[in-house]
Amino acid sequence: MNERATYIVMLGPPGAGKGTQAKVIAEELGLMHVSTGDLFRENLSRETELGKLAASYMNAGELVPDDVTIAMVEERLGREDCVKGAILDGFPRTPAQAEALDELLTRLGGKVDLVPFIKVPNEVLIERLSGRWMSRSGRVYHALYNPPKVKWLDDEDGSELYQRDDDKPETVAHRINVYYEQTSPLIDYYQKAGTLVEIDGTQDIEVVTKDLLKVAKA
Ligand code: ADP
Ligand code: ADP
Repeated sequence: MNERATYIVMLGPPGAGKGTQAKVIAEELGLMHVSTGDLFRENLSRETELGKLAASYMNAGELVPDDVTIAMVEERLGREDCVKGAILDGFPRTPAQAEALDELLTRLGGKVDLVPFIKVPNEVLIERLSGRWMSRSGRVYHALYNPPKVKWLDDEDGSELYQRDDDKPETVAHRINVYYEQTSPLIDYYQKAGTLVEIDGTQDIEVVTKDLLKVAKA
């Protein structure tokens, strides 16, 4: 009872496998999976003001401004279903977001406990993103590496899968650059904080999951 909440930040370039892994380990650890990309996409499909604002940045492969993103995460982590903590996927993505997260978690009586950094070389990222198929519920498939049981259909609810607009080759290359410019400084940030653990993201999905659970349960 009254145990402190646990917060895990999944770090890594687009296509590293953060979403795929976050879904599995959140379930295994009994934590909420909070993906800023999924939250923006949900807003987009509901045509909210936030969704409309985010869309222009997302389609261009740019980051949504920090203030908007931080406010959205603050609201999400403050909800009842996050009392035990969360696996953060796609957030923070800038040093300002990382500092805001530290402040927010202090207010919530927690801290960033662990930062698995999923390392994957660029040529693999491009291959992964160009074959990524998504379900509306946020499940992630790959045409070759993690195909659904029936082509283009979600295994669990049978809904039609889609390719993200921002997974087009031109946008993918730009998003990887944005990662190196704006997000990769966080490797150093969390290394200094003593929370970073490097994970080899080129291994099979199940092997990466095993490695992640090993460090999360240590
Ligand atoms: P991220 O959230 O980091 O952008 P995703 O979890 O969406 O990454 O994965 C990107 C694509 O790569 C998806 O199509 C997914 O099925 C596939 N994928 C994820 N992990 C692996 C892996 N270890 N090996 C092969 N393909 C993978
Ligand atoms: P991927 O899984 O390929 O890394 P995401 O689904 O996490 O992509 O994010 C898709 C897009 O949503 C990003 O390119 C960006 O426009 C926006 N986004 C997601 N998270 C953030 C964030 N923390 N800060 C700013 N923009 C974000």
